[in-house]
Amino acid sequence: MKYRSTRGGLENSSFTDVLLSGYCSDGGLFVPETIPQLSSECLKQWKLQPFTYIAFEVAKLFINNNEFSHDELQTLITESYGQFVDSKQVISFQKLNNSLVIAELFRGPSYSFKDIALSPCARLIDKHMKKQNKYATVLIGTSGDTGSACLQSCRGLKNIDMIVAYPFLNVNDFQRRQMTTIKGNNLLVFPVEGTSDDIDIVLKQVLMDQNQVTKHNLCSMNSINWIRILFQAAMYIFIYLQTADDENENVELVVPTGACGSIASGILCRLMGVPIRLIAAVNANTVVHDFVQTGVLTERPLIKTWANAMDICIPYNVERILYFISNGDVKYVKQVMNEFETTHTLRLSKNMHDLLTQTISTCVANDNDIEQTIQLCYQKYSYLICPHTATAVHYALINDDHPQKKRVCLATASPCKFKEVYDKLNIQDCTIQSNSEEEPFTIMWCRGSNWLELVNTAIQNEPLVYCTNIPDKTLTLS
Ligand SMILES: *Cc1c(COP(=O)(O)O)cnc(C)c1O
Repeated sequence: MKYRSTRGGLENSSFTDVLLSGYCSDGGLFVPETIPQLSSECLKQWKLQPFTYIAFEVAKLFINNNEFSHDELQTLITESYGQFVDSKQVISFQKLNNSLVIAELFRGPSYSFKDIALSPCARLIDKHMKKQNKYATVLIGTSGDTGSACLQSCRGLKNIDMIVAYPFLNVNDFQRRQMTTIKGNNLLVFPVEGTSDDIDIVLKQVLMDQNQVTKHNLCSMNSINWIRILFQAAMYIFIYLQTADDENENVELVVPTGACGSIASGILCRLMGVPIRLIAAVNANTVVHDFVQTGVLTERPLIKTWANAMDICIPYNVERILYFISNGDVKYVKQVMNEFETTHTLRLSKNMHDLLTQTISTCVANDNDIEQTIQLCYQKYSYLICPHTATAVHYALINDDHPQKKRVCLATASPCKFKEVYDKLNIQDCTIQSNSEEEPFTIMWCRGSNWLELVNTAIQNEPLVYCTNIPDKTLTLS
C-alpha cells in the first residue's frame, strides 16, 4: 500500500514515511492511495475472531510486508494489547436492552478508547526507529485523554522520547494526575495556559518545519496520525462483526465525536464495505453537527463541557472525511481546505454536502443532556457511563422507536475518570476512583510567553536528559 496527501501534493509515500509524519509537506493529511475492499466472504471468515486477529488482518492490508514483516506485526499487536483487561478481545460489550448495546472501548491502561490505537502506534514508531538505530521525539497536544494514552503507550520504549502539552484548565483532576504521575524517563509533560487548539497551532508549526523534523525525527501521535485511523478501523470492524447476525446486516454505531478521528475510521470502514450507519454524537461544541446540517464549517469559541475530550473547535479529520466522501478528489479537498485556512470558513458544494449527509448523521447533547442521560442510564440499567459515552446514549434513548434495529453506542472512556460529574449527580458507585498521587514539579507554558521557543528548547534538550536534571521551576503545582 502506498500513501498520498489529501491535497494531492505528495504521492507514492511509503508506510514508514506516514508513520513518522504529522502533516504532509503540502499541509494535507496522509491517506491510502486505494481503499481495500472486504468481501462478505472475508467478513464471514473474520466473524468470530478476537479483536487482535482483526487488528492483525487490517494492519496487513495497510502496512507493506517489506516495511514490517507479518511476524513483526503479530508480535507488536500482541504486545500492544498485553496491558488490556482482556488482551485478546480488548473490547467488551454490555447489552442494556435489545436495541441498546454498549461497546466498552476503555479497558486499556489509561481507561479511554485512545489506548486501542495508540498502543500499536507507539510500538510501530519505536520498532522502526530501533531498526535504524535512531530516536524519535513525539509531540502531543491534548485535550485530555490523548495525553495519558500516549504516555502509557510510550512509557519504557527505548527509541521514543515524548513531549506532551495539555491545556491546564481543560482537563479534570484525575486526567491531569494520570499524565503528571506516569513515571518514565522518556516522558516530558507540560501544562499550558490555553486550549488544545492553541497548542495544536504551535505544534503544527514545529511539525511543518522540515529541518527540525528531519534533525530530531519529530512526529505526532495526534488524531492526524494515520496509524490511529487504521487501528480504529479494526475496532469498528470488530464491533460490527460482534453485533451483526450475518455479514449483510446493517448496524448503527453512535460515536462520541470531537476531532473526528474516530468517525473518520468509521467512514473508512463503510468504504471498505462494512455495512454500518454512523451517528456522530457531539457535545455543546456543535461545529461538526452544524457542518453536517448546513454544509458550512466555521470555527467557534470553545465551550467547556463534562465531555472534555470532545471540547474542540477545529475537527482536523474533516479533511480526511472530505477526501473519503469525494472519492479521493484531491483538487477539491485542496481548494476547500485552502479556503478554510484563509477565511476560517469552508462551504461545501451541494453535491458534496449531499454526500456528507448520506455518510453520517449527527446529534447534540449539551451538559444538561449529559447529566440527565447518566442519571437515567444508572437508574434504569444500573450501568454507569462517562460523560462522553452519555452523548451517544442520549441519542439512543431519544430514538428508541425501532426496537428491531441493531445499534451500538461506543463507550469511549471509563466512568472512573469523571468523579466530579457523579459528585454533582449524587451517584456513588465502586467504579468511580479518585487519584491523589503526588504530582511532580512542572514548567507551565504561560499565556504571553513564546511557546514555539519552549517546544524547541524541550526538543533540543532531548527529554531523556531533560527529565533527569529537573530544570528551573517557574511554577509549582500543589
Ligand atoms: C478523543 C475522545 C473522543 C473523541 O474522539 P475523536 O476521534 O477526537 O472524534 C471521545 N471520547 C473520548 C473519551 C475521547 O478520549
